[in-house]
Amino acid sequence: TVNDTLGHVVGDQLLRAVATRVAEEAQPSELVARLGGDEFAIISSQADQPEAALALAERIIARISRPISVEDHRVIAGGSVGIAMAPADGTSVIELLKNADLALYRAKAEGRGQARLFEPEMEHTALSRRSLELDLRSAWENGQFFLVFQPFFRVGDRKLCGFEALLRWRHPTRGIVAPATFIACAEETGLILPLGAWVLTEACRAAADWPDDVRLAVNLSPLQFRSGHMPDQIREALRVSGLKPSRLELELTESTLLEEGSGIHGALQGLRSQGITIALDDFGTGYSSLSYLRSLPIDRIKIDRGFISRICEDDPSRAIVRAVLQLSAALKLETTAEGIETEEQLETLRAEGCGYVQGYLLGRPMRATEARDMSFQ
Ligand code: C2E
Ligand code: CA
Ligand code: CA
Ligand code: CA
Repeated sequence: TVNDTLGHVVGDQLLRAVATRVAEEAQPSELVARLGGDEFAIISSQADQPEAALALAERIIARISRPISVEDHRVIAGGSVGIAMAPADGTSVIELLKNADLALYRAKAEGRGQARLFEPEMEHTALSRRSLELDLRSAWENGQFFLVFQPFFRVGDRKLCGFEALLRWRHPTRGIVAPATFIACAEETGLILPLGAWVLTEACRAAADWPDDVRLAVNLSPLQFRSGHMPDQIREALRVSGLKPSRLELELTESTLLEEGSGIHGALQGLRSQGITIALDDFGTGYSSLSYLRSLPIDRIKIDRGFISRICEDDPSRAIVRAVLQLSAALKLETTAEGIETEEQLETLRAEGCGYVQGYLLGRPMRATEARDMSFQ
């Protein structure tokens, strides 16, 4: 039942222990394959029972998440599972594995310990992960990345306050690829480290050409902080570009801020003491509890587009946004709402006391030259 596919060899004791546990869970109609590290594929021929395959995936994840003893060490393996159903999702093992792999990629994008069933749309939207890895590496070597800049504004008078740098990939055959497609892969392969350093330098250089009161926001991945070189890299980018620290804003997500033992809070305090602003990005999409906001070293929160898109229609979103704005005010945090697409949303946010907004209504991401022109208007 345990099939060591795609050339990976189950060599060490840990993997053997995991494999044994996995084997104990599967039925004869189910094939479980390990695709790499903590990645598993299930191929089920019980076509009418996707729930059974999902349940198997859950059991596999639960079992391998229990500590395993390897040479006196207790090791906790994670696990992500992609599932393909035969014959609907493929008629050959290769095709089924490929589709399970696409589902696995989605599962991993949702965090550790997730399982996903293959859906046909995955084939069209996702590049095959392995070809994506190769493509990304050559993209980096061939300079196919570039930045666009999306403006953000003060709500009261719609004054331009700054731009957020957003990464784009000019793919030789696919055209412009958005970061949702490749950031996770860049993180998994470690490419995000050189790429993230490049974004920082390049964005600071662009912003140094803008008027002095126009700020720059840069997105950072949690991995960039794990290396411990982040504060030095930021100092260097500021030095080379001549950008004042008070004009730089770093956007981090909750999962970055919640990483324990990474020394990240200390690093962020150091950056703040130089005048750099720290923003909590995508607020409301993660583990957010309002009460922990108090303890984080942040200056601003960005309320996720998910709340804003429904703010005028249903009450719960509006009530949540109101509560977040009230709490931020009490904690003296600035607030930016992302994804404003209509005047109605903007008016609602103004009425609720949100300080800053960003979204297609007032400005889409644009090239550096356009951003520069806009910054002088
Ligand atoms: P984010 O930080 O939440 O960025 C906002 C995303 O929402 C951007 O997508 C932007 O184009 C889009 N957006 C802005 N206004 C609107 C609107 O009114 N309506 C709609 N429908 N969408 C809007 P984008 O550029 O595809 O970026 C996606 C995510 O990729 C970003 O989400 C950010 O988490 C990540 N990302 C982008 N650039 C970088 C980077 O340089 N480094 C890292 N680590 N992550 C990045
Ligand atoms: Ca952001
Ligand atoms: Ca955001
Ligand atoms: Ca977002």
